[in-house]
Amino acid sequence: MSCGNHHDVPCVEVLSLMWVYIDDEIDDGHRIEVTVHLQECPPCADHFTAEQIVQARIRKCCTETQTPQELRARIVEQIQAALRSN
Ligand SMILES: [Zn+2]
Ligand SMILES: [Zn+2]
Repeated sequence: MSCGNHHDVPCVEVLSLMWVYIDDEIDDGHRIEVTVHLQECPPCADHFTAEQIVQARIRKCCTETQTPQELRARIVEQIQAALRSN
């Protein structure tokens, strides 16, 4: 999970902020840091895109029930396969 470029905000920090960013619970300062990082770091951008798709699909399929880990794992697999085939 590294593109080899230098980043002001390291990838691990960006990835640790991923869920609050996707859930839109991030503060403005961090939001800007993450957005800038994603523009200069394709591996992190791919990761975020995949997670956003997973989140959207889970919300759509199971709004009431608790999030089934199995379903989540399956969707992640499908997306990762799709990303690899690009
Ligand atoms: Zn990165
Ligand atoms: Zn990078």
